[in-house]
Amino acid sequence: MKKYHLCIMPGDGIGPEIMKEGVKALKVIEDRNDVSFELMEVPFGASAWFEFGTCCPDETWDTCDRADAIVKGTVGLSHEESRKIPIDEQPERSALLPMRRRYDTFANFRPVYLPKAFHHFSPLKPAIIGEGIDIMIIRELVGGIYFGEKEVGTNEQGLRYAREVLEYDEGLIQRTVKIAFETAMKRRKKLHNIHKSNVLKSSILWTDIIMEIAEDYPEVDVQHMLVDAAATALCLNPTQFDVMVMENMFGDILSDQGGGILGSLGLMPSACLGPQKAYYEPSHGSAPDIAGKNIANPYSMIGSIAMMLDMSFGMHEEASNLWNAMSAVFANGYSTGDLSRSTDSVKIVSTSEFGDRVAEELASSFLQNT
Ligand code: NAD
Repeated sequence: MKKYHLCIMPGDGIGPEIMKEGVKALKVIEDRNDVSFELMEVPFGASAWFEFGTCCPDETWDTCDRADAIVKGTVGLSHEESRKIPIDEQPERSALLPMRRRYDTFANFRPVYLPKAFHHFSPLKPAIIGEGIDIMIIRELVGGIYFGEKEVGTNEQGLRYAREVLEYDEGLIQRTVKIAFETAMKRRKKLHNIHKSNVLKSSILWTDIIMEIAEDYPEVDVQHMLVDAAATALCLNPTQFDVMVMENMFGDILSDQGGGILGSLGLMPSACLGPQKAYYEPSHGSAPDIAGKNIANPYSMIGSIAMMLDMSFGMHEEASNLWNAMSAVFANGYSTGDLSRSTDSVKIVSTSEFGDRVAEELASSFLQNT
């Protein structure tokens, strides 16, 4: 029997609630395959800080090091609550970014997917959604301004200032861009380079490298689009996009907009791949406004687990069964409240009921296949 060690980080806010639903799906998969998942749950995030005085205790790092993959919920607090933790010890600065750096998880895959049948979830008009939205955003995850040098102080005029450096070298860009081309080759062979070359020199370097690597992929149609124009285009004509590749901060912002055009951040799973280790997490934050109410959408967490099955363990069929199980729940008319608009007839279910229904659909998909 194949045994996988998974480091499970429920995290803060809605993290523990949606993680439970992801684990339900893993249990179904474990029950019917020659595989076992050893779940090693660890503290991570603001909740860990309040309990242990650090957002990532040493034991958490040890467990991550030993794991075959890391499954992360969400971290962070509301704006007001965050202020209880010293700035440099807050979860993103002291745990999440260090984890990305430690495992060099440079390639962040963020699917923005909504088939035509579920157009009612989206705030966009059906005519704009057409045959459906199917975009893969590839975000560089360990470079750029989030990881650049930082300084705060008071300048000669006595004014407080903050300085943060946006830096990329060609190696960092090349490896992400190659992954984007490879991904485009497996899809519709269309790649949008999202940049800001009219202002940023880093974007000029980024675009030069795209054009150099494009020579190795003559079948891929490369389009260059300014990031500000891309924000508009995502709303007005999202179906023109297949793969979009961009630097770290652009990807952070545009992928949340991706969640917006689908109808909820709850539809945004992600995979973060490095040379040796990968971790999987919803693209969104800890949603403190709805935490503890059993109303969050666990699709993003369950979808991240589907990505793990596919990308880390080669369990392609079970990954697709899991996606299909979530679609079946939607097709049967159920969704969490975030996806319900006043004009539709969606039957609203809780986080846990959504997860139960996905697990049931997943189990029955297996019976159909045997
Ligand atoms: P957020 O992504 O947590 O929430 C934005 C909005 O989307 C909220 O209205 C929330 O209710 C909704 N939402 C998010 N996920 C949902 C889901 N699964 N189901 C239904 N609705 C959902 O952004 P925020 O409120 O700006 O940030 C909250 C905290 O999360 C902050 O501390 C922030 O730093 C942190 N954060 C963490 C990550 C991460 O862990 N990678 C990413 C982004 C933000």
